[in-house]
Amino acid sequence: LSEQFSCIGCGVDIQTVDKEALGYAPPSALEKEVIICQRCFRLKHYNEIQDVSLTDDDFLKILNGLSQTDALIVKIVDIFDFNGSWLPGLHRFVGKNKILLVGNKVDLLPHSIKPNKVIQWMKREAKKLGLHPEDVFLVSAHKGHFVREVAEAIDEYRNGKDVYVVGCTNVGKSTFINRILKEVSGEGDVITTSHFPGTTLDIIEIPLSDGKHLIDTPGIINHHQMAHFVSKQDLKIITPKKEIKPKVFQLNEGQTLFFGGLARFDFISGGRQSFVCHFSNEINIHRTKLDHADELYEKHVGDMLSPPRTDELEEFPPLIRQEFMIKEEKTDIVFSGLGWITVNEPGVKIAAYVPKGVHAMIRKSLI
Ligand code: GDP
Repeated sequence: LSEQFSCIGCGVDIQTVDKEALGYAPPSALEKEVIICQRCFRLKHYNEIQDVSLTDDDFLKILNGLSQTDALIVKIVDIFDFNGSWLPGLHRFVGKNKILLVGNKVDLLPHSIKPNKVIQWMKREAKKLGLHPEDVFLVSAHKGHFVREVAEAIDEYRNGKDVYVVGCTNVGKSTFINRILKEVSGEGDVITTSHFPGTTLDIIEIPLSDGKHLIDTPGIINHHQMAHFVSKQDLKIITPKKEIKPKVFQLNEGQTLFFGGLARFDFISGGRQSFVCHFSNEINIHRTKLDHADELYEKHVGDMLSPPRTDELEEFPPLIRQEFMIKEEKTDIVFSGLGWITVNEPGVKIAAYVPKGVHAMIRKSLI
């Protein structure tokens, strides 16, 4: 662009190159008298929030802005990738503002799990991570489960203030907001999306009935997420779409599991026992001997051990090994964005392998 335009809706700088990024507008939009970015366009005409992502620096600016506001913050995480979708350090930016923590995609967890147990778990983990939310919820934005409850809680806690919705990309923030919009407009309180204040940068303000706003912030890209290391096609395989069916493996010491070619688990010592794998039902789990595992991977990554596919291998990072000693009962070994393995007994030594750049960690069992 020779000339810089801004969106009359949110004020962002308009660009015509990257559809997924902030400020995108189709080139034809530049010929119009008033220029509006695609994200604002969709909200205005379809009452629909579209997700866009932005750089860390821009996101920091938005976070910094939060401490200057007097608002309720709603933080969304993906319960399937709790740690990977956590926004670290948010608590340092919120100032005196209250926070509600919402775990989305509860529909993915096995039905046998009691939501309240998961909520208790989220409260403990949040505290460990330095966040002190007023309340914690589990929802399925996709299916609409518990969205009404959250909508009511938001209205109660906001106490006449603005609401900022924050979350990293792919947690389902847009789906969640769109659900909330439906809930609200279902009661005849239709959102007046024709009006854009155009005062703020990079954020969309959705007017609420009392003159305050629900504010959608762009999602931050969390570079450690598995999603950034696989193709769109493979992402479909590793992202569960429905309830995950835990798979139990009875393993002897010296056995290895491969999760496609994306991750690996070695059972080093601790005596024969069962390991419960929580992954997308479409991921192929391959059991083998630890002694042969390196060789097998070398030979078969891309075919028997896929994704990644053969033609993606060149760009796929090497698997990095990390050893863990499990000291407590019911511990999860988390392969960020891919799933987790629950170990029931303490005194187990294992190794977890993930692509370089992706996180592996242990945590108190979610389930
Ligand atoms: P955003 O980047 O945070 O705005 O996320 P989106 O709303 O675009 O959702 C990201 C992905 O998660 C999409 O594939 C959604 O279909 C999916 N998704 C969103 N909410 C849910 C949910 O409640 N359950 C499940 N299983 N998937 C969801």
